[in-house]
Amino acid sequence: DRAKILVSACLLGQPVRYNGAGKPLAHPALARWQEEGRVVPICPEVMAGFAIPRPPAEIANGANGAAVLEGAGKVVDTTGADVTAQFIEGARIALDLARRHDCRFALLIDGSPSCGSGLIHDGSFSGIRHPGAGVTATFLRANGIEVFSDREIEALETRLDD
Ligand code: SF4
Repeated sequence: DRAKILVSACLLGQPVRYNGAGKPLAHPALARWQEEGRVVPICPEVMAGFAIPRPPAEIANGANGAAVLEGAGKVVDTTGADVTAQFIEGARIALDLARRHDCRFALLIDGSPSCGSGLIHDGSFSGIRHPGAGVTATFLRANGIEVFSDREIEALETRLDD
């Protein structure tokens, strides 16, 4: 299967995170998919127009990406700014890219209010994470994309071999 895969740009080492750094994932499968031209990098936050660096943001009040997409939750940054609309815009751009590249799979870094798929921060900016998914991961899943976290790269590898 030569399926294409959306991948969080920071996992590819691109310096797009809030703190201006990347978070490269060194894994032979990821390197191979890149060599095979199957990787479509996405950074929903940068695609939505956020600067690098930028204040960190979290989904407020222990809510999750689904609540944000339903209008029942919001994303705020450490300055107190409500950045919900931009996070939803980033999710839309990510889905648009997935469709244009015919991607049915995504490998996204966990813990992010955009890309998190198993864990997100609780909105207290105190480093506490809880089970849940971010805005982009939730939106992609709701639109038929299979999302795997960076910790699940081997499960994605197996899935692609099916
Ligand atoms: Fe990485 Fe996703 Fe955050 Fe961009 S939005 S820096 S790709 S975790």
